[in-house]
Amino acid sequence: MNELLKKTATEQSKALKNKEISAVELTKAAFERINSIEDKIGAFNSLTEKTALDTAKKVDEKIAAGENLPLLAGIPLALKDNMNLVGSKTTASSKILENFVSPFNSTVAEKLLNNLVPIIGKANLDEFAMGSSNENSAFNKVHNPWDLNKVPGGSSGGSAASVSSCEATLALGSDTGGSIRLPASFCGIVGMKPTYGRVSRYGLIAFASSLDQIGPFARSVEDAANLLEVISGHDPKDSTSLNMPVEHYADSLKNDIKGKKVGVIKELITDGNMPEVQKAVENAIETYKKLGCEIKEISLKNLKYSIGIYYILATAECSSNLARFDGVKYGYRCANPKDLMDMYTRTRAEGFGPEVKRRIMLGTYALSAGYYDAYYKKAQQMRALVTQDFLNAFKEVDVLISPTCPNTAFELGAKASDPLAMYLTDIATIGCNLAGIPGISVPAGFDSTGMPIGLQILAPQMQEAKLFNFAYQFEQANDFYKQLANI
Ligand code: GLN
Repeated sequence: MNELLKKTATEQSKALKNKEISAVELTKAAFERINSIEDKIGAFNSLTEKTALDTAKKVDEKIAAGENLPLLAGIPLALKDNMNLVGSKTTASSKILENFVSPFNSTVAEKLLNNLVPIIGKANLDEFAMGSSNENSAFNKVHNPWDLNKVPGGSSGGSAASVSSCEATLALGSDTGGSIRLPASFCGIVGMKPTYGRVSRYGLIAFASSLDQIGPFARSVEDAANLLEVISGHDPKDSTSLNMPVEHYADSLKNDIKGKKVGVIKELITDGNMPEVQKAVENAIETYKKLGCEIKEISLKNLKYSIGIYYILATAECSSNLARFDGVKYGYRCANPKDLMDMYTRTRAEGFGPEVKRRIMLGTYALSAGYYDAYYKKAQQMRALVTQDFLNAFKEVDVLISPTCPNTAFELGAKASDPLAMYLTDIATIGCNLAGIPGISVPAGFDSTGMPIGLQILAPQMQEAKLFNFAYQFEQANDFYKQLANI
């Protein structure tokens, strides 16, 4: 492998500017890396070599002309396969979209192309982003680069595995209940979910619209901060997009956090955590103390309901969002339908996988006339209480910390037949989506078998600069992020 692939985007950008390597060479090196290990990892549903090389050529022309480069120009990036990119297959890892080719760009893809970021391929995911292990993909399994018998986490498992294995330097994922932070934690990299509305969701295949956010994966906090800057901003094409200025987040990374307050979420520090995970949080507390922060225990009383709330709201929203896949407008249609109803029902029965069907049924039930008040309305009310818990907490502390997940990556197949066990994997991440606040997972240690552990940090809405600041200070005080999977 070209050694430069192991470096961060910031270091790769310097190498491009110093003409140590051209953007075309760097992009080709990424494809060589993919060709040599992808049969072991399975991170990609498809590769977009032409798009990537065309973009890289433009970067080289700019360098030759002595022009300034946009942020992250020339840095190889993997796009989760639920985001549209013109001319590429966008499948959401579902049979129902297996042959769907994007006729338009998602706003994030457009922004990446404008910044001359080579998009090298479409990363595997759980079907329609529903899952925590990437095992719900209708296509390949994704393997964790740290141990190929283990899951990479989900639903953005392909995005995380591609960055962790140095196939890509950066990636985008989407996070509805933890799908960026969880795989980042399992794969030993940085993954960040922005404030709801910070990044446009136009052209992202919707799962649960009141929770979905797109965000960055990287091997350093600085890279993640820069990637968020590139993809953020107001978008008239997304009615939930916030009309607020985009910051140059990298400017805040080195701010002194002495005297600031770090809250430790009481409900997430339990005997249910793996002992090594518990130790990693203790180390994080010590790190922040050494950096001069005051540590406070914070109780979020309603957090324990968050998984229940989420599985009513997310399934209700997905049952509505996925109604559009009917064999008429997009993708797959069953063979030889007898009539219209037969076409609808067989298309959906044959096109969707078991987890997607389970959720559509659950969501339809929760929204049905007799049950709406008991389930959907109640869940909305409880969501408000969880949000209020966070608002109260942030009156007392600057940021909150917890493990990203109670455990490290598990064996492929270990939870595949037990949906409830799988759902519980997200106990620490879902509250952040319900409250619409930003959250990040940063490498925070290893378990006794060498699998990575993630520390989750949460901040108030629109305070991503502060979030990156605390994440960077933790990262730099340790050297976990420097360790790469040995593959
Ligand atoms: N694991 C959660 C789920 O299956 C979250 C998924 C996500 O964030 N996209 O719904």
